[in-house]
Amino acid sequence: MGAPSHDTTPIARTDHQCQQCGRTIRPGEKYHRWDGLYDGTWQTTKTCAQCRHLQDDLWNVDERSEDFETGDEAYAWLGEVDWNDVVLRTGDLLWNLRRDGFRLQWADRVYPKSTP
Ligand SMILES: [Zn+2]
Repeated sequence: MGAPSHDTTPIARTDHQCQQCGRTIRPGEKYHRWDGLYDGTWQTTKTCAQCRHLQDDLWNVDERSEDFETGDEAYAWLGEVDWNDVVLRTGDLLWNLRRDGFRLQWADRVYPKSTP
């Protein structure tokens, strides 16, 4: 059995920082929030909508991480993705644009920014 955790998609009321790309999630934006017991303490991670879409897409092409505690499949940690390998495996050059979007904190975005 996995550690207790839950996922929510709240609307930001104050600024938050995306823990994947580092950009500021502004009030009114929807983001992904994960709360869970990890290593004996409660932890929270916040992910912006674009990074979450990217994680979803990576999941769908079997680019996944392993949960450190449970060994279960988990969403990829975007900073550790081997993008060249994803391009080679899928034959889809759009992954280069997605990677660049992530690195530029979605300033030059592939995925639409979430609207309030
Ligand atoms: Zn992000």
